[in-house]
Amino acid sequence: MAEGGGSVNSLNENVPVYEHVDVNSKPFHIGSFRDLWLSVLNPEDYSFKETSGEIDDVRFMQEMGIPPETLEELKAVCSTESLCCHPADEAPDPDDIPADTQLATLKLRKKRLDYKKSLIRDSVGRHDAYANELEMLTLGRRIEDATDLIPEGEIVLTFNVIYPILFKQFRHVRVYQTLHILGSQKLTELRDAICCVSDLQVFGEFSNTPDMVPQFISKDHYKSAFFYFEGVFYNDMRFPECRDITKVTRDWAKTKGFPEFTTAKMEETTFSDLRVKVGYPYLYCHQGDCEHVLILTDVRLVHKDDCLDRKLYPLLTHKHRVVTRKCSVCHLYISRWITTKDALAPMDPCLYCDQCFRLLHYDQHGNKLGDFQAYAYVDPGAFN
Ligand SMILES: [Zn+2]
Ligand SMILES: [Zn+2]
Repeated sequence: MAEGGGSVNSLNENVPVYEHVDVNSKPFHIGSFRDLWLSVLNPEDYSFKETSGEIDDVRFMQEMGIPPETLEELKAVCSTESLCCHPADEAPDPDDIPADTQLATLKLRKKRLDYKKSLIRDSVGRHDAYANELEMLTLGRRIEDATDLIPEGEIVLTFNVIYPILFKQFRHVRVYQTLHILGSQKLTELRDAICCVSDLQVFGEFSNTPDMVPQFISKDHYKSAFFYFEGVFYNDMRFPECRDITKVTRDWAKTKGFPEFTTAKMEETTFSDLRVKVGYPYLYCHQGDCEHVLILTDVRLVHKDDCLDRKLYPLLTHKHRVVTRKCSVCHLYISRWITTKDALAPMDPCLYCDQCFRLLHYDQHGNKLGDFQAYAYVDPGAFN
C-alpha cells in the first residue's frame, strides 16, 4: 500500500495516512484510492503485457542519463554470475564437498547433507504436499478462458482472518487464513471463502440415527452472517431464511449512546465500495456468535506477476495448520464422533473415527449396542 506524504493528503482524504503510526491508517474509500492511482500512472505501468528487454534498456538509459557502454558494464558487474567463483558451465556441484575442508560453513553443510542422506523418507508430508498445492494452483497458471482474465487496473486487497475470538486467550490468537480478494468482488465471496468449523457443527444426539448427521450441518440451517466495517453492518441476505442478526447489537448500542450504526447488504456491496482502515481489526460473525477478527493488511493494483485468473479469487495464500485429534481406537484416522456415558469407552468423553465408532457400537444390522450418547465431532484440523 502506498503511504501518502504531506501535501497530497490534505487535499485528498482517499490517500491513506496513518492514524496510529505502524498500526493502522485512517479510513479511505477503496474505489477512489484505485482511481487516484490510475489517474497518476501510465497505462503501461499497470499493464499485464510483457515489455521487451530492449525497450526496458532504452528507457533505463534515458532515465539514468547513461550511454550504452555504461549499461553493458552495469549488466556485467551486477549479474548474478559475477557471484560465482567458476564460470557457470564448469561450476562444481555445490553438494560435492571435499572431505578435508577447513571452512566451518562447508563443514556444517557437509554435516547437514550427511544427516539428510541418513533419513529414510520417500514421501512428502501431507502438510508439505498441501502447501505445494497452494502454490501450484497459481504459479505460472495459464488462463483457459480469456473472459476470466482480471482487467488491468483492478485492485487487490489482502485480508487476514483470525481464529474465532476467545478473549481470555487473546495472546494465542493466530492468523489462520490469508486471502486475496479483488475490488470488484462482493463481500459474500469473502464470506464463502472463510472456512470455520462452526459451519460444520451438528447439534443433537445421534446414537440412534448415526446416518442422519450429514443432514444437520449448521451452515445449511443458520445462514445469517455479517461483516462490520466502519459503522456499517453488512448482512448476508441471499437466502429467505437469513435474518438481520445485528439488530440486537444496534438496539443495545442505541441505549448506550453510541453513534447510530447503519446496515447494508453483503451481496450488494463490493470491496471497492468500502471505506475502511488498513491494519484495523474488523469483525466477521456467523453462526450467531462465532466471531472472527478480520484485518485488511494491503491494498494495491494487480500486477502482471499475480494470479490473473479471476475464477481463483478469493485466493487463499496462507492457512495455519493445527494438530488433528485422532480416533482413540485406531489412532490413525481423524475423529468424527464423540461419545459420553459410554460403557465401551476407555474415557469420557471419547473420540472415534467413523469406522471404529460403528464397528464398536452397532451390530451388523445397525442396531445400537449398549447405552451411550453420540455427538458428531468436527476436528479443527478438518481444513488442513
Ligand atoms: Zn467461525
Ligand atoms: Zn478409528
